[in-house]
This record gives sequence, C-alpha cells and structure tokens, in this order.
Amino acid sequence: MSGPLLKVENLTKHYPLGAGFLKNKMPVIRAVEDVSFSVEPGETLCIVGESGCGKSTVARLLMRLMEPTGGRVLVEGTDIAGLKKGALRASRRRMQMVFQDPFSSLNPRLTAGEIITEPVENFERLSRKQRHALAADLLRKVGMSPEMIHRLPSEMSGGQRQRTAIARALALEPSLIIADEAVSALDVSVQAQILNLMMDLQQRMGISFIFISHDLSVVEHIGHRVAVMYLGRIVELAPCGALFAKPVHPYTEALIAAAPVPDPERVRPDVPLEGEVPSPINPPSGCAFHPRCPLAIARCRAEVPPLIPMADGRVVACHVRAPATGAHEHPSAMVDPTLSGEIASIR
Ligand code: SF4
Repeated sequence: MSGPLLKVENLTKHYPLGAGFLKNKMPVIRAVEDVSFSVEPGETLCIVGESGCGKSTVARLLMRLMEPTGGRVLVEGTDIAGLKKGALRASRRRMQMVFQDPFSSLNPRLTAGEIITEPVENFERLSRKQRHALAADLLRKVGMSPEMIHRLPSEMSGGQRQRTAIARALALEPSLIIADEAVSALDVSVQAQILNLMMDLQQRMGISFIFISHDLSVVEHIGHRVAVMYLGRIVELAPCGALFAKPVHPYTEALIAAAPVPDPERVRPDVPLEGEVPSPINPPSGCAFHPRCPLAIARCRAEVPPLIPMADGRVVACHVRAPATGAHEHPSAMVDPTLSGEIASIR
C-alpha cells in the first residue's frame, strides 16, 4: 500500500444546542475544528489534551459513529463518508476501537470466548470448533491463557478485561486500532503491561494505533508522533521525541511542565497552566488559548493562528512561536525536504 493508512482533512464537528427549525439560530458546541492529520502503516499517533478538547469526538468521527459537520476521513484513500452500509461495515473491519472502561465495554453476560469471536460472527458463521480455536489463539496473542475462554468479565481482573477487549479488537485483523484512554482506568503496573502488549502487537502484526490520552507519561512511552489538541483544534503535531525534548506551543509546554516526572533527576520547566479550558459554546476569539497564555499579544485575540511547519518536521499554531509572517525566515523555508510530504498531509 502506498500513501497513508488514514488521512483526515479539515475534520469539523459542531453540535447545535437545539433542534427543529430554530436549530440554525441556536448556539453551537464547536467540538472539533478543522483537524487534519495522517497515520502511516505501523505508526502510533497519540492525541493528547485536557478533558473536553475534542480528542474523543475525533475518535468517534473516524469510526463514523457520528457524522462530521465538515471535512473528510480517507481510509486507504477511500472517503468513508460516501460509503453505503455494506461498504462501511467492511471499512470498519479495518479500524477497531478499544475504550477506557473495559468493564462497561464488555457484555457482562458473555464469556471471554464469546466476546472475542462476536465481531467475526457479525461477518461470517463459525463452527463451534472454529470459534474455540480463534478465541484461544487471540487470548494467547494478548498474553492470556486459553483456559480463560469461559470466564465472565466479572471473573477477570482489570488488566485481563482490557486484554480481552484488545483480543476482540484484533479478531477482525484490523490495520488500525483507536485506543481511547485505554489504560487510564488501570493501575500503573497493569498500564505498563497493556502498553507493552500494544507495542509488541504493533511490531509483530504491523498494526497502526491512534492512542488518545490525557496522560503524557504514557504518550511519551508509546507514541511515534503526538498531536496536541486545545478546544477542538490541533495546536502542535510533532515527532514524539522532539515534542517532549522541546515543546514549541505554549500550551504543549505547560502540559509537559504539569505532567508528573518519575525520574527525580529530570527537572521540568516551571510553566504554570492556570485557569480552566473555556467553553466550546463560546470559545475565545483568535487563538482560543489566549486567556491562559503568558505570551499572548494583541494579534492572538484577533486571528486564529494557522499551523506552520517547522524545521524539525513539526507543525505549530502560534503567532509568537511560529509566526506565519514577519519572521527573519519563513519557517516553511526551513523544512526538511524528506518531511515535506508528511507536512503537506498534516496541513
Ligand atoms: Fe499564546 Fe498567542 Fe501563541 Fe496563542 S497564538 S499560544 S495566545 S502566543
């Protein structure tokens, strides 16, 4: 396959706060605004941001669990908006989701074996023997004993439930798994086991992941690239190492500074992140981060900053740190030519 596995272009989701013929005059919740990115085969793209930044809405739009207000989602070059029911079902085989709370996302009345094979049986009939063999194989793949096949979710630990959810996602041999806060409800030691399992599956099976989290220490561990979202928009998208070593957007900088550091030798800069995320019903004008930003200038209140490519392959939306005009050298002139295709797809 040439080109990205997934390409998202100008994805937007607004919810009107009302219905009927007055709908167009009602205020709207701007959950996702003009979001663009791509995911390559075998890549893990992490999406981070505070609660309410729109990252979970992006996940649901990608799975077409809701319709976008605007923009396109291309899976292996095909726009999923134009797919009829049968083709959409086939496309969903390629993308699976793992949710935050495995206890509520697993049917409590089904055994592990039934949970794991259920997605396949939506597409094809399996004999009892085939079902058993498939479930046992997938349980082994996620590091569980096939003897767990008859266990109910209530008879499993949190880690075993999440492994079962991952086994179910793997059953349809997807190219992409969207993990939405998939380890947030687990103990730290179990989190590490599940993250290592995901990275191992990626190496063995070449699966791509979109890993959505508010926890930067987890993201630093698992991500190849990171998209930072603030109030529905991507404000910085960078290779993981570059983002954590040298965040450019003031919001990224503050998020990283606020994250706990497990290494006592490693000192994080003191960049306070004050105040709450503003309401997406009435977002601040210009750069939505300006009421909380220590670097804000007059222009920040008036103009939404565009995403500007930087020399190291990242894109940043900030009038001060990544000015589109007025800099000694336009940042796009510094772009590594090997990265220009990727940047073009992000923008
Ligand atoms: Fe701060 Fe202005 Fe940059 Fe927004 S555009 S992050 S307000 S400096």
